[in-house]
Amino acid sequence: MSLDLSSVIRTIPDYPKPGIMFRDVTTLMGHPQAFSQVIGDLMAGYAGRSIDKVAGMEARGFIFGAPVAERLTAGFVPIRKKGKLPHKVASETYQLEYGEDVLEMHLDAVEPGERVLIIDDLIATGGTAEAAIRLLEKAGAEIIAAAFVIDLPELGGADRIRRMGIEVSSLVS
Ligand code: 5GP
Repeated sequence: MSLDLSSVIRTIPDYPKPGIMFRDVTTLMGHPQAFSQVIGDLMAGYAGRSIDKVAGMEARGFIFGAPVAERLTAGFVPIRKKGKLPHKVASETYQLEYGEDVLEMHLDAVEPGERVLIIDDLIATGGTAEAAIRLLEKAGAEIIAAAFVIDLPELGGADRIRRMGIEVSSLVS
């Protein structure tokens, strides 16, 4: 029987700033059945759709993205915070829910025309996902979809990414 994922996601009020309700997925990751269900559900939507690479955003996008990549027989592309990658990178500055940040990706992490699925734990304003899309597009990737464990629809991120013409899915709203 499938678990109600919202029951294993912990909400931390006023983190990292007063007024923010932070959705803490460490409780979900630590729950064997929930973690397995999430990986299975994320990959199920894309099985059979010829995905060459899964791209995940540091750091929680690595935890969900890497097992999905392995199960889709795809490669994994780490999209990292500034200064972490050793080879030639593309960079994108973006607005976060709580400030500004820079994401980077190795320019040779995808071949032009490769089909990429983006995975992260949560979409809020969509700024992080949009930066990841721009990075992947700079390298010539074809973005097939973006999938998230959690969508916060009131922040409009999923709609913002859909307006870019990219399919968006999530497991919990
Ligand atoms: P956005 O760029 O869509 O506004 O924010 C999404 C990014 O911030 C994701 O990479 C996500 O990991 C992180 N994030 C923002 N709010 C939360 C939250 O409440 N819980 C978790 N787990 N991550 C969050």
